[in-house]
Amino acid sequence: MTRISAFAAPSAGKPLAPHSIERRDPGPSDVVIDILFCGVCHSDIHQARAEWGDSAVFPMVPGHEIVGRIAKTGGRVSRFKPGDLAGVGCFVDSCRACEPCRTDVEQFCEKGPAFTYNSTEMDRKTPTYGGYSTQIVVDERYALRVPSGLDPAAAAPLLCAGITTYSPLRQWKTKKGDRVGVVGLGGLGHMAVKLAASMGAEVTVLSTSSAKQADARRLGAESFAVTRDEATFERLARHFDLIIDTISAPHDYNKYLGMLRPLGALVLVGIPPESTPVSAFSLVGGNKRFAGSMIGGIRETQEMLDYCAEHRIASDIEVIPIQTINQAYERMTRGDVRYRFVIDIASLK
Ligand code: NAP
Ligand code: ZN
Ligand code: ZN
Repeated sequence: MTRISAFAAPSAGKPLAPHSIERRDPGPSDVVIDILFCGVCHSDIHQARAEWGDSAVFPMVPGHEIVGRIAKTGGRVSRFKPGDLAGVGCFVDSCRACEPCRTDVEQFCEKGPAFTYNSTEMDRKTPTYGGYSTQIVVDERYALRVPSGLDPAAAAPLLCAGITTYSPLRQWKTKKGDRVGVVGLGGLGHMAVKLAASMGAEVTVLSTSSAKQADARRLGAESFAVTRDEATFERLARHFDLIIDTISAPHDYNKYLGMLRPLGALVLVGIPPESTPVSAFSLVGGNKRFAGSMIGGIRETQEMLDYCAEHRIASDIEVIPIQTINQAYERMTRGDVRYRFVIDIASLK
């Protein structure tokens, strides 16, 4: 065991503060990663505030958008060597035997994957701790290769925000000319815009205010609409093939379903803690599809990283020292982030 520095939420909703945790000694198939950068996802906030229910485990070291350098490799490791850049996303292990694990959707492991934090290893006893820390030890099978063309800090958010938006765009086979709406221009939203535009889609950003209009165009959107203006929902009625909804707070899904063309799909990636009623009428007329999507498996995450390197896509980031993490949470809660905070882990050493 090695004791390392971290930042943790001591209990639900309490400010994050310095903390130390133990990382296991590397086994034969493990890699030890010295963490360079960790993105700040809104899921970190939901979980550190126990907004997703009382299963949250404290002290909690959040962080699942991890990029670092391999420091050490176990004897059987074949895909990494010391000095390589590597990434870790939202889970660090799974049972490896069930159908989802065998078909590259380990996030749906029947035993429950070992999420990167606020979870346990597959022994179901050892708590997992995330990337707001100096080092992580993970089986090489759950580590990603970060292509050298990507900036390590700007690549970190790809490990969650990137894959979470790439996967539904692929599931709905987004192609040139498709009309894609992106609801909420935060960490996930800005990646959805970049990725959909790179696939040739005609992207519209649907945002609460006009403050992000110029940014939306710079990120690749052709149009922009303000959702506080009710006229938007009439003007864009029956408009979209696909809407990706990234909003982290409750809102009326029926209004967004009204903006779909017949057979169009509204895909939720945002996870507001409260539930919201959906009317059958919103779905039945027009054969609308109402769906959700959760991150992506290891194979698809690697595909996304390679795709981003090829298309020169990464996140727009504001690098912060870890000591300002609580202010960053407050700013994200107000929608004040352009477009992902990334912690420079050097500030923790
Ligand atoms: P974020 O950076 O905070 O962005 C969320 C955006 O939603 C905000 O920038 C804002 O956009 C909009 N928004 C926030 N509050 C709103 C409100 N009350 N009404 C309307 N719009 C509002 O968050 P994120 O990191 O992108 O995460 C977004 C959500 O996705 C979170 O719920 C997170 O837990 C979830 N998530 C899910 C997955 C998955 O696998 N499905 C993975 C990662 C994250 P505008 O300023 O443009 O209005
Ligand atoms: Zn996330
Ligand atoms: Zn499994």
